[in-house]
Order: sequence, then C-alpha cells, then structure tokens
Amino acid sequence: MREKILSVLEDYDKDNIHIGTIGSHSALNIFKGAKEEGFSTVCICREREKKVYENFGVVDKFVIISDYAELLEEEIQDNLRQLNTILIPHGSFNAYIGKFDSLLLPMFGNRELMIWETDRDKQREWLERSGVRMPKKFSSPEEIKGLAIVKYPGAKGGKGYFIVSSPDEFYEISEEMVKKGLIREKDVKNAEIQEYILGANIYFSFFYSPVYGRIELIAVDRRYESTADALGKVPAKEQIRVNINPTYTVVGNFPVVLRESLLVQAFEAAESIVEVSKEIAYPGMVGAFCIESIFDENATMYVFEISARIVAGTNVGIPTSPYSYILFGENMYMGRRIAREIRLAIEKDMLAELIY
Ligand code: AMP
Ligand code: AMP
Repeated sequence: MREKILSVLEDYDKDNIHIGTIGSHSALNIFKGAKEEGFSTVCICREREKKVYENFGVVDKFVIISDYAELLEEEIQDNLRQLNTILIPHGSFNAYIGKFDSLLLPMFGNRELMIWETDRDKQREWLERSGVRMPKKFSSPEEIKGLAIVKYPGAKGGKGYFIVSSPDEFYEISEEMVKKGLIREKDVKNAEIQEYILGANIYFSFFYSPVYGRIELIAVDRRYESTADALGKVPAKEQIRVNINPTYTVVGNFPVVLRESLLVQAFEAAESIVEVSKEIAYPGMVGAFCIESIFDENATMYVFEISARIVAGTNVGIPTSPYSYILFGENMYMGRRIAREIRLAIEKDMLAELIY
C-alpha cells in the first residue's frame, strides 16, 4: 500500500503541491498554515459548509461532496491526484471515514497510528507500554468504587459520557439510555468504565519532526463542554431536584499556559509515547499528536487519551502560542507547522519520510 502511495507521490509536480483536507474541525488552521508557507489549498466539503471557507479566503479549489466518505471514491481521489494533493488528516477523518485502506493519496503522518488511536484497547496498550500514569480501568460494572466515568463504544467527542459512583447507578443510567434509544442493549456490556480523575483538564499538542528529529510543544488548550461547564450556573439543590447529569459534548476550546514546573511531566510522557509508537507502528509518530490529560489536586498528570494527528484544540494557537513562539521566534501554529515540515522535506528531498 505504502509503495503504491509513494509512486503516486513520485509522479507529483513538487512545485505545484496542493494541501488538502476535509472542510471541518481544524481545516481553517491547516489551510491558513499552508497559504503562509506558500502552498495552494484544496477543500473537500459539502455545499453547505463551502461558504465558511470561501468567506475566510484560504481555499484555492473546492471539491464538493455530499458525504465525507465520498473522499474514498475513485473519481474524487483522481481529481485530487491531478492537483498533486497531500492530505492532512484531522478528527473528521476518524469520525466520518475511519478506514483508509482504499485511500490512494499521500496523507501526512502515520495512518497506522490513526487506527491505534480509534481503538480504545489498542490506545490503552500503547499508553500502558509507554509507562504513563492512566486512570484505572474497571473491567466490570460490579467493580465500580468511587467516581467512575462511562464511555460507550462509538461515543465521540465526549458526547454520551456519564459519571456514576456505584454498580446500581451504572445499570440504572444505562437502562434509561437504552430506553431512550441512545445506546443498544449490547453496548452496555462493552462500556469502557474508568476511574474518574477529579482535576484540571490539559490537552498538550506536540509535533514530532522527522526533519529536525525532535519533539516540539506547539499549543496547549482545554475544552469548553456542554453541559459539564454549565453546571456551576445551577445551584446544587436544583441539580439534585431535576437530576442533572453532566455531559461532555465539546463546543469549543480555551488556550492554557501551564504552571511551568508541570511541563516536565508532559515532555516525559511525550518522549515515551513517541518511543513506543516506533515499536507498534514503524517508523512511529510523524507530525502532530495530542496528549489528553488531567492534573489532580497534587498536580499529578494522568493521561486518558492520545490522538495521532492534529486536534481542534490547536485552533487556539493561531497565529501562535507562547510555547511555539518561544521555540520558533515567529508566529507558529499547528497548521503552519505541518506545512513548514512539508516545505522543508521537499527542499531536503525527504517527503517520503512524512507519509506512512
Ligand atoms: P466535526 O467535524 O466538528 O464533527 O468533528 C469531528 C470530530 O472531532 C468529532 O469527534 C468532534 O467531537 C471532534 N472535535 C471537533 N471539534 C473539536 C474541538 N474544538 N475540540 C475537540 N474535539 C473536537
Ligand atoms: P474525550 O472525548 O475522551 O477527550 O473526553 C471528554 C471529556 O471526558 C473530557 O472533559 C475529559 O476530561 C473527560 N474524561 C474522560 N476520561 C476521564 C477520566 N478518566 N476522568 C475524568 N474525566 C475524564
């Protein structure tokens, strides 16, 4: 598969590369970065979203589809190959496509790691092997002790997570969700149940650069979630009276600057996660990745998730974050960092090392 993709790349006119992505998630970030690094851009989107990307003036060409999965259709792929397109994957690629076996287009990063990221068991294996501290996993609802967070298969972006503190409560809420048609009976058995870590959420967006051979911290954010971030507005006695449970649907992000002495925990985690990535999916991490963590009351870091691609939280870092500014001495954000790596790789004849 990789050989086929590399032969597509070989035929590309390297002076006329288009940076392409699906119009959603962090596309504005990716397109703006590509333009700032001198590339043309192509946006694959639905007619409805086209106006957003037109409005911001960061797209040179549009490929209109009615469903994101159409990206896999031969005609669309051919169209993109004609434009010498390098695709930049983001959260919508995972959420709406998921399988890349038939995608014969150069895609920035390591596709295999994107598959590891979408599978909860594989993700846990990766993180456990890295030796990072993680929330405990309860292997059955009967084991629930203290606060636990329940994640059903397919729950995306925090939607549909809930908190319980006993096995009875787990079954009670699950039953309610089955009745409401939110989950299926068989999902109840496959729920991922984790120890709930009470603390501050911090999402670290790193970049592993094959060109420079180093890990870079590009941006840090936290999420703005509905309804978890609204609960403080309702008095506790009303929360109990109407039985409000928090939900975690992400609607936005805030930038974060960390207490500096905590950065070392994040860098240590990033180093070991990158090391293990080489063992599980050669040659390991390429480009953007995000370590999603919670710092508890002792400022101890727990890693609860990893993304092996750009995350939307990096949108808070446009045109720069304090960290990327310190490192580069110029405006730098994830979309631009990706395009910079591609540009440097073209100059050094290393492009094939960015595409796995
Ligand atoms: P979307 O294209 O907006 O539907 O998002 C695709 C995937 O990325 C979904 O799983 C979303 O939950 C996730 N996502 C989108 N935007 C954000 C954001 N600002 N912060 C965190 N996750 C996001
Ligand atoms: P996710 O979509 O997995 O990134 O997570 C969505 C929300 O669930 C975030 O606010 C997380 O902080 C929260 N969350 C996920 N796992 C845990 C956990 N083990 N302890 C506390 N909060 C969690």
